Amino acid sequence: MSAALRELWFRAGVEEPVFSSDETRCWAKPEFNQLLSLGLLRETSQAQGVLCDCMEAHWEEVFWAPDVREPSGTRAYIACPVESVVVHVNPERLRRWAVDPQALASVLAGSLKLSGLIEPLPGGRQWALGRRHMAGRFREFFLASIEEGQLDNRIMDSPAPVVLVPYRYRNGGSTRLPMFSLSSVTTLADGGLILDLAYIEDALPAERSSTKAKAVQSFQVPEDARWEELALEIRDATVVMSIRNSWQELSLEECGLTDERQEGSTGDRALQTLRVLARHNGVFTSNEASGHEGTPFRSQISNLRKRLQAKFPIEGNPILYHGKARCYRCAFQVRLGADAGFATPYGSTWADFQFSEIAGGIILVSVKSKELFRAFGQKNDRAGRPSIEAAERDGLISREYRLVALGLADPTGRAMPEGQALLDFLRQSGKLVRRPDDIAVLRLAKQLQAWTGLDSSPFQYSPTTKRWIANFECSSVRGGKQAMIAPRCTSTSTLL
Ligand SMILES: [Zn+2]
Repeated sequence: MSAALRELWFRAGVEEPVFSSDETRCWAKPEFNQLLSLGLLRETSQAQGVLCDCMEAHWEEVFWAPDVREPSGTRAYIACPVESVVVHVNPERLRRWAVDPQALASVLAGSLKLSGLIEPLPGGRQWALGRRHMAGRFREFFLASIEEGQLDNRIMDSPAPVVLVPYRYRNGGSTRLPMFSLSSVTTLADGGLILDLAYIEDALPAERSSTKAKAVQSFQVPEDARWEELALEIRDATVVMSIRNSWQELSLEECGLTDERQEGSTGDRALQTLRVLARHNGVFTSNEASGHEGTPFRSQISNLRKRLQAKFPIEGNPILYHGKARCYRCAFQVRLGADAGFATPYGSTWADFQFSEIAGGIILVSVKSKELFRAFGQKNDRAGRPSIEAAERDGLISREYRLVALGLADPTGRAMPEGQALLDFLRQSGKLVRRPDDIAVLRLAKQLQAWTGLDSSPFQYSPTTKRWIANFECSSVRGGKQAMIAPRCTSTSTLL
């Protein structure tokens, strides 16, 4: 490392990191200029004193005296008591350069290719630099020019922090955070300040999921991604994340959602909170969850927020609070995973089902049912009010599903072959010209049987017409026939 850079790191750790002209004079000129052009050093106020050139090399305060020979009209002097003379001081010697911590933070964030905002942390002399993926997970990088004991909570609470310090005088500190001395991981090159990323990556604590680190890295969050573009599908043991045209299924561990397992609890706190939000499609009114496991929902949300920000290098707040409505709203899309199945009423057959494509990739599934509901009876009670009785009526249970939720499309919404077969059935009024051993149709049949819990096949093959015929009603807004969407409740109710 260049002498200038090493001096810079030594000095950057002190409270007022300033260099005198006498100090920088012995640095190589190109290095000094590079530090200036990177903005790491900037000229600051003139020195109030200098070292005397005499044998004693004592520090002496500068005084100014009028002098017509100077363009400024004054000349700098120090008094030397050793030699009992007044010595003229070249004003060049009074120039000083300060380490600019803000510029340092931004140069580091740039060299590390971090995303996110550079933020000064309370207490001063520490910065959140941003996030990037490294050694199997997203890491938050911090710059701290202070003692370890004074680190801000934001650093201490970060799920995966990497702390850069200018220079460490001692090895090992009170914290167990991954810490790197800039004095040992940086060099100056033509391209600017270079960090030894390979070394940092190698020295970081290995994740439990490090064997799958490669898979994790393939889920790339575009630099300009917004939370609105992220969709999470929370499944039992995995999370499917998608953004723009890429998607990936990761284990909870890989998502960092198994770190905070609590005694007597079913799982990770943040995961529980995420499930609550997913169950409500990302919008949740806070008073519904007061006292959830004893921890205020607000702090659970703030914990989850931090975990999401550590996982995804996306700017902004992933979970917003609407004070007026007292509700939390996820900026990203979140839902519970592939529907476990359709609540098929007892005794139903495929003939009771109706599948309609009501918009691109959205299927309305209806089934005839006997609905139980509360109704006013014809008799009055003793107080004269009508009695309340259970009643039954013929109705339709209708629910909308995206192909994704039916397990028939990938998380970006692209139909899989089975999904395409279903869409073809719906768009062609339940008839489909395909071979009797068509894999997509056979798979779709199995999947629909499992989903509805019906034993019989939803399709049959007709050898005479050489096509598949659906045993349920099919329609589509995209097909020849307009979708027939029956009202939710059709027939008259009958009292029991
Ligand atoms: Zn002197």
